[in-house]
Amino acid sequence: MAPTGHIGIALGLRNLAPKLPLAAWIVLPCLTDIFYGILSAAGIESQEYSPYTHSIAGAFVLSLLAAAAAFACLRDRRAALAAFAVTLSHIAADFTVWSNLSLAPGFPSNLGLGFYDRIGFSMATAGMNAPSLMATAFELLLLAAGIAVMRRSARAARP
Ligand SMILES: [Zn+2]
Repeated sequence: MAPTGHIGIALGLRNLAPKLPLAAWIVLPCLTDIFYGILSAAGIESQEYSPYTHSIAGAFVLSLLAAAAAFACLRDRRAALAAFAVTLSHIAADFTVWSNLSLAPGFPSNLGLGFYDRIGFSMATAGMNAPSLMATAFELLLLAAGIAVMRRSARAARP
């Protein structure tokens, strides 16, 4: 999933921990792909094989690190829990759209519900074609929904 969808999901959860700054709600859901970018540039991971960043175990480790960093900075348990959840939301969202995630490094890359595979979208053929447009529309919808939920719950929280 692109940052659009990941950030949309995160913004929908944003008011669960108002102390966690907005920037964290934008960066943390993309942290898995940021590390993926670094590891793929280093030749360690690739589109077909990304067992460190895109495995359940890898995502848990990264989420724990994000929570520890948030707690160190903010001294707020709720913010740390939110940092954990929003970082972990990446793999949960990817799980719904891809089918090449793994349990941990060394395990086969065959986990996920594969919504994008079902509609024929793949990163290799991304471009001006129907599956790409469907995937883009889906992610823009997630972003719009996330912003709507965030604004609505912010309004509800105001005295
Ligand atoms: Zn990802």
